[in-house]
Amino acid sequence: MFQALQEKVGSRLILPGEESYDEKRKVWNGAIDRRPAAIIVCQSEEDVVAAVKFANEQGLHISIRGGGHHVAGTAVCDDGLMIDLSQMRAVTVNEELKVAYVEGGATLGDIDEETQKYGLATPTGTVSETGVAGLALSGGLGYLRGKYGLTCDNIVGANIVTADGTLLHVSESENKDLFWAIRGGGGNFGVVTKFEFQLHLVGPEVLALDVMYDYKDAAEIFRKSQAYLNQAPDEVSFNLTAAQLPPAPFLPEFLHHKKVIMVSGMYAGNPDDGEGIIQPLRELAQPIVDQTGVMPYVALQKKLDVMVPNQIPVYGTSLYFGDLNDEIIEAILSKLENAPTPGVLAQLWALGGKMNCVESEETAFATRDASFVLLVDVMAMGVEGELCEKWVDSLYHGLLPYSHKQSSYLNGIGVEEKVTKQTMAGNYSRLLEIKKKYDPRNLFRHNHNVNPAE
Ligand SMILES: Cc1cc2nc3c(=O)[nH]c(=O)nc-3n(C[C@H](O)[C@H](O)[C@H](O)COP(=O)(O)OP(=O)(O)OC[C@H]3O[C@@H](n4cnc5c(N)ncnc54)[C@H](O)[C@@H]3O)c2cc1C
Repeated sequence: MFQALQEKVGSRLILPGEESYDEKRKVWNGAIDRRPAAIIVCQSEEDVVAAVKFANEQGLHISIRGGGHHVAGTAVCDDGLMIDLSQMRAVTVNEELKVAYVEGGATLGDIDEETQKYGLATPTGTVSETGVAGLALSGGLGYLRGKYGLTCDNIVGANIVTADGTLLHVSESENKDLFWAIRGGGGNFGVVTKFEFQLHLVGPEVLALDVMYDYKDAAEIFRKSQAYLNQAPDEVSFNLTAAQLPPAPFLPEFLHHKKVIMVSGMYAGNPDDGEGIIQPLRELAQPIVDQTGVMPYVALQKKLDVMVPNQIPVYGTSLYFGDLNDEIIEAILSKLENAPTPGVLAQLWALGGKMNCVESEETAFATRDASFVLLVDVMAMGVEGELCEKWVDSLYHGLLPYSHKQSSYLNGIGVEEKVTKQTMAGNYSRLLEIKKKYDPRNLFRHNHNVNPAE
């Protein structure tokens, strides 16, 4: 079946039974075990065009691997064609225009490494090994969100191969409907081979917030964080993470197995100006450890990498919240109580500033007025995956009534039609029209799917 494609791309096409097949179908989440009919490891836009045209002719569905980090493992599918962009990671910078040109398989680290040579950055996420494509197409939350918005807000252009194998350039003036759709609509519309991201002056040294508190003070910390957020300048973006620390060699022994709240964040301005401004976040309770200080932006962007290793089975969910009142805080904390394993990372990220100044309809990313997003990930080490999945599901449903418009961060939750529609909200019908135009047969369905069959 794959002969015609193989003639074009040679050994870049990998079939079941070949030596590298099992390695190439792996994604970040070790719970995912899917077997594509073939994997094409693309090295150029031409490879992507050939792969999509072939899939279109054969009626094969497609999964796209950017960095392979989505918790639902949507980068890999059963029986379809997996388009792997992991060899397409080039990043170049036009310093004058302040634009980065980024291939579709690049990681956040690839971007920071190149753009920081010029003292520039685009908002991305907080773990350097994450792929930018999936992250950007469904939002992109990082330490620059308050000052410069989401990653998707900083897409100024892109090359995209649509379902019939056409390579299009999208921007504010070309293929405007697609340009709108890819800024929040995920991988529904084609394979993005290259992004153009707006760059901003950042660093190279930045003020990084890093405080650890005792978990027993969680309610107080959440309350004070809300009060802080109410008056926080756009320069401050911060995340609260509840976790029981592992007995890991990179942690001092007195922290092993300790339940803590970690507050991490950044002041996106002159570090000297930020010291006083972020001080209240260092006094939310009695700190256990405070490593707040000035450091290179590139180092900050890598700091959390050790916390989230590859290939561990993970189950995750997400919900947005409005202002954290006592009722919501109590609901969140009580739901976190009975986790099936200590390996839970529960993150509450404060939202505001530039990312919430964009109107809901301006891009496909609809949730622009929440105060916090909750991201819960359970690492199923030594416990049944099914148990973790059930717990995550019950946490989601238990907290849904308290949530903000029943909306979830799609980059942190499994694929389910209801979740997709609730989140895309008022933008769903426009996304559906665009999907029908560019992918009427739903070749690109391994995602938070906008189903054209509706
Ligand atoms: C350790 C870890 C840390 C994270 N930290 C953050 C964070 O700080 N901030 C944040 O916002 N999110 C974060 N995330 C979530 C992250 O945004 C998602 O996992 C996102 O999907 C990662 O993108 P990817 O390219 O690696 O995904 P992949 O798993 O490769 O792809 C996910 C989906 O995106 C689409 N896609 C991927 N590449 C392309 C492409 N080139 N063209 C078209 N569609 C494509 C496809 O639909 C694909 O199924 C984190 C995830 C992990 C595992």
